[in-house]
Amino acid sequence: MVTPRRLLARLRETLAHGTAPLQELAQLVAAELVSEVCSIYAARPGEILELVATHGLNPQAVGRTRLRVGEGIVGLCAATAKVMNLPDAQNHPAFAYRPETGEEPFASMLAVPVRRAGRTLGVVAVQNRNPRSYSEEEVDELETVAMLLAEVLSTTGATDGAEEGVGATVPRVFAGAALVPGIAIGPVVLLGRRWRPLHLLADDPDAEQARLNEAVQRMQQGLDELISGAPDGLVSGADGAASREVLDAYRLIAADAGWVKRVSDVIRGGLSAEAAVQRVSGELHDRMRRITDPYLRERLSDLEDMAGRLLAALAGDAPRPTVPQGAILLARRLGPAELLDWHAAGIGGLAVEEASPAGHAAILARALGLPAVGGVRGALNAAESGDEVVVDADEGQLLLRPEVEVRSTYVRALEARSAQQAGWAALRDKPATTADGAHISLMLNVGLHMEVAQLDTTGAEGIGLYRTEIGMLARGAIADVAEQAATYARVLDAAAGRPVIFRTLDLGADKLLPGDAPEEENPAMGWRSLRIGLDRPALLRRQLRALLLAAGGRPLTVMFPMVATVAEFRAARALLLAEARRVRPAPEQLSIGTMLEVPALMWQLDELLREVDFVSVGSNDLLQFLFAADRGAPALYSRYDLLSQPVLNLLDELLTAARGAKGGAGVPVSLCGEAASRTLEAMTLVGLGFTSLSMPATGILPVKALLAELDLDAFRPVLSAIRRNTSGAASLREPINVWARERGLPV
Ligand code: PEP
Ligand code: MG
Repeated sequence: MVTPRRLLARLRETLAHGTAPLQELAQLVAAELVSEVCSIYAARPGEILELVATHGLNPQAVGRTRLRVGEGIVGLCAATAKVMNLPDAQNHPAFAYRPETGEEPFASMLAVPVRRAGRTLGVVAVQNRNPRSYSEEEVDELETVAMLLAEVLSTTGATDGAEEGVGATVPRVFAGAALVPGIAIGPVVLLGRRWRPLHLLADDPDAEQARLNEAVQRMQQGLDELISGAPDGLVSGADGAASREVLDAYRLIAADAGWVKRVSDVIRGGLSAEAAVQRVSGELHDRMRRITDPYLRERLSDLEDMAGRLLAALAGDAPRPTVPQGAILLARRLGPAELLDWHAAGIGGLAVEEASPAGHAAILARALGLPAVGGVRGALNAAESGDEVVVDADEGQLLLRPEVEVRSTYVRALEARSAQQAGWAALRDKPATTADGAHISLMLNVGLHMEVAQLDTTGAEGIGLYRTEIGMLARGAIADVAEQAATYARVLDAAAGRPVIFRTLDLGADKLLPGDAPEEENPAMGWRSLRIGLDRPALLRRQLRALLLAAGGRPLTVMFPMVATVAEFRAARALLLAEARRVRPAPEQLSIGTMLEVPALMWQLDELLREVDFVSVGSNDLLQFLFAADRGAPALYSRYDLLSQPVLNLLDELLTAARGAKGGAGVPVSLCGEAASRTLEAMTLVGLGFTSLSMPATGILPVKALLAELDLDAFRPVLSAIRRNTSGAASLREPINVWARERGLPV
C-alpha cells in the first residue's frame, strides 16, 4: 500500500517551516490517522526514550516522561525495532503506566520505531480511545512518517546531539559466530550511514521514475566494472572463472525487475526516487528478520547491497569509501559487491550483524583472508564511527570499545599469532608427520573452485571433501551437465593430480535452493541430500555424468552424503556405474565411498564395508543425530562433545571394523567434519587411529604443527587410559587437554 500523497504533501508543507516542527508534526499525523493522540519519543544517551512532542497527551509530560529502552510499549518498540499494533494496549504485559501523561482513556496504540541507518532514534505512536486494530494502510502511513522523523530527529538536534541513538560509551561484547577465523583490531566504520536524503518528497513521479531508470542503468554498469576490476586472485587470474560462482548470483539479482518495480510503485505514491529506494530497502529488512532460511537471507543481503548502490548512483556518483587502513567494517548485512569495495578501501576485518558462514559475504571474506564474525546483533546500534573494536573470530565475538588491558592482550595475541604463522608457513611444504614418524594425511574441505588454491597455501595433500552443492547455492540454481562438468574439470585441473573427493549434492536442511523447499518440521532429518538424489535420479545422474566427463579419463573419487542404509548406497552406486558405462574415456580409476553421518550405518558395518571403497565420517551431522541436537542451534553449540565416550567409542568401533574388512585388506576411513580442524580433536582422532583427516584450510597448518610435536606412541595408551578411567563424564576434553599442555603441545 502506498502512502497517500495528501499526507505527504501536508508533511512537506510542515517541514518547510524549518525549525523543530515536532509539535506540528504530531498534530498533523493525529489528524490524518484520525487518532486522539500522536506522540514522538526521542532517544537520549543511556538507552532512554524521552517524550519530545505530543498531541493528545498532557503537554506537561513533554520533557518529563522518560522510559528506558525495553520499558513499556514504546520502549519495547524501540528495543525490538518492531511495529506494535495493539487494539488493547493497556492490557499488554509490557504496558507501563505514567500518571503524568494522562493516557488512561486510550485503549489502542500503534507504535513505530524511528530508525535511520540501523539505529533507533526514537518512536512515534498514535493512540485511540476505542479499541481498534490499525489497518495496513495506517501502519504504512506511520512508517513513512517515521522515516521523515528520522531525518528531522537527526538534523534538528531533537535527540540532544545524540545521533548515536540508543547506545552508550561503555565497553561491550557481542557474541556471534566465526565466519572467518582470526583476530583484527582497528577503528570501526559503520556501513549504512552514507546516505542523507536531500529531498524526501517529489512532485513529479515521472521525472523521479526517469531518474530511477537512469540510476539502475548506471548501477549495472558500475557493477560490471567493479567485478572485472576486483582484486587479483579473487576474480582475475587463475581463480577468475570460479569466483564468478558467487558473483554470478549477485548479477542475477541486479537484473531482477521485481524490486525495482516495487520502488517505482512507491515513487508513484509521491516519494522521491531516493526515499522510495530507502523505503523498499527498509521493507526488505523487515521481511528478512522473519526469514530463517540462511540462504534466502543471504539473497536479501544482496538486494540491500544493490539498494545502497542505487542510492549512490542516484546521488550522481559512487565514490569508493575511504577508511583508515585496517579499519573494521561493521554492517547489518553485506553483499558481495560491497565487500569488494571495502576490501579495496583497505579494511582489515569484518563484523556483520546478520550473516551465515555459508553466505556470500563469508565466502568472499574467506577468499580475501579477512577475519570475520557474524550474528553480532545490536552492535551497529551500539557503535559509533571510529570506536575501537576487536574482531575475535576465533571466539566468534566482537568487542566494542574494549578496556585498555583487554585491547593490549589482543594486540599481544595478534603479534604472537603472526610469529606463529611465520613458523607454520615453514611447515607448509613438509608432510604431516608425528614426532615419532607416523604419517597423517591432511586434506581440505572446500565448496568453491576458487578455494582449491588453498591446496598450495596450506600444503594439504588433496581435497577430502568437495561440497558440490555450494557452487549451486551461490548461483541460485542447479547448473546443467556441461556447466557442472566444466566446474569439476577446473577443480581437477587446479588440484593437478592431488586427490579430490567429490561429494554429490547435499541439498536440503539448511542448504536450500529458492523454490525448492518442501514444508517440513525437521528439515535436517527430512527429504534432503541423497534422499532427493535417489527420488529424482535424473538430477543425480546428471551430476554423476558431469563428474565422469570432468575426469576425462583421470581418476575419479565420488562420495555419497546422508547414506542411512546399505541399500541406499547400492542404489546410488548403481546410478554412478550405469553412467560410467556410457561416458568415454572411462576414468582411470573410480573410487566410490560413503559418508558416515547417520548412526544407523554403524549397525550395518559388515555389509557396508564389503561394498564401499572408503568411508568419511561427517561428524557435523553425525553428532547432531547421535545426540539429537540441532547443529545450528546456538543454545546447544557446546553442549555435546566429540571428545566424549559415546563418540570415541563409536569411532573406535568403526576403525576396528574397517581395519579388518575385506579379508584384512582394510577400508580407508577419514573424518571430514569441522572438528578435524581443531588441534585437540585432531590429536585425539589420530590417537584413536585415524590416519586421514579433512578440514577447512585454517586447520591444516596448526594441526600439522601439533602433529610434528606429538609422540603418538606415548599418547595412545594415555588416551586409552583416559577413556577407561573417566566413565560417566560428559566430556574427556579436560584430561586430554591437561596431558597435551603438560607436554607443551600447541593445542
Ligand atoms: C558433516 O556433516 O560433517 C559434513 C562434513 O557435511 P556438511 O557439513 O556439509 O553437512
Ligand atoms: Mg553433513
